[in-house]
Amino acid sequence: MTRFCCCFKKNKKNVLIRKNSNIDKIINKDIYYYKSYKKLEDECIICLNYINIDDEVALLKCGHTYHKQCIHNWFKKKEVCPICNININI
Ligand SMILES: [Zn+2]
Ligand SMILES: [Zn+2]
Repeated sequence: MTRFCCCFKKNKKNVLIRKNSNIDKIINKDIYYYKSYKKLEDECIICLNYINIDDEVALLKCGHTYHKQCIHNWFKKKEVCPICNININI
């Protein structure tokens, strides 16, 4: 009999993050902050600039990334992701 491993059920969140950013840690919080070590392919849609090496990055649970500073300013108005509109607990 073939047994399927229980780790077959991969964390969806984690897959998103791997696809969209240069971080491979699992986030347990709604926002994860880190310092970028490479230029990201996606631009920060708040300021319309690319995220470059050494920029402070905020990775939201939905997998979208922004500059830390930009998303902080955004959250003063609305605590949602600017792209997909999901609620973020800050
Ligand atoms: Zn920005
Ligand atoms: Zn999002």
